[in-house]
Amino acid sequence: MPITDPVKLQVALDHVFKVKICRRCGAKNPWNAIRCRRCRSYDLRPKRYRK
Ligand SMILES: [Zn+2]
Repeated sequence: MPITDPVKLQVALDHVFKVKICRRCGAKNPWNAIRCRRCRSYDLRPKRYRK
C-alpha cells in the first residue's frame, strides 16, 4: 500500500534514513553515533537517500 500523503511520506523517509552506516562493516548506527557500535570504527556515513 503506497503512502499518498506527502507529509506522512516525509516522516517515514526521515525515520528510515536517519541512520548512519559504517564504511568498514556496514552496520547501522544511531544518527548521533560518533563511532560504530559493532567495530568501533569512526568511519560512518549517513544513509543515502533512495526512494
Ligand atoms: Zn563498523
